[in-house]
Amino acid sequence: MDVRQWIVRFSELVTADASRLTRLDSDIGDGDHGTNLDRGLRAAVAALDSDLPPGKVLMTAGRTLVSKTGGASGPLYGTALRRAGKAFGDATEVDAAGLGAALRAALEGIKELGKAEEGDKTMVDALTPAVAAYEGAAGEGLAAATRAALDGAEKGAEATVALQARKGRASYLGPRSVGHLDPGAASTVLLFRALADVAG
Ligand code: ADP
Ligand code: MG
Ligand code: MG
Repeated sequence: MDVRQWIVRFSELVTADASRLTRLDSDIGDGDHGTNLDRGLRAAVAALDSDLPPGKVLMTAGRTLVSKTGGASGPLYGTALRRAGKAFGDATEVDAAGLGAALRAALEGIKELGKAEEGDKTMVDALTPAVAAYEGAAGEGLAAATRAALDGAEKGAEATVALQARKGRASYLGPRSVGHLDPGAASTVLLFRALADVAG
């Protein structure tokens, strides 16, 4: 699997869905999630050199996201990708176990930085079941594990609709945040859709 293609595909999916992500963020935030992430990911793709090993690709993409994406989501996704890159170390190939460790490290990085737990109505609610589903299916290989992860992300994101936000801007709305899909959880689904697309 080519991790550069993962980032390229994520960027394509976010570009295609930017207005939907921004609309979701208009409902419970400040209406910039799609534009923030689209800008950051275009910059990340432009910064990627095709000759880099997987760990370096993800660290470069993460660093670019931190500096070029506005809002809370830039540092969160950026930290996630940097941690994932670090987990790969000097590996030259991506296998199912290596990717599992990288995804787990990404989730831990987001939780450490944002201090959100499952149930706070954030991207953590999509990422947590995605990583768990990946780990459960990792023995079946990359394609099966990434499909399981996408399914976990979709279910986790959908479950944010019923939750009240306790982190991020949406938390300012209190109970009025209930009944809306969290934009960051929606973009996390795209991260895993991109992964399943390139690993499948
Ligand atoms: P901002 O709220 O600064 O405008 P974005 O709109 O780009 O940033 O991203 C909002 C998304 O970021 C939310 O939908 C949520 O999923 C995620 N988010 C916000 N705060 C946190 C946090 N502390 N931990 C995890 N995710 C968070
Ligand atoms: Mg926003
Ligand atoms: Mg903002």
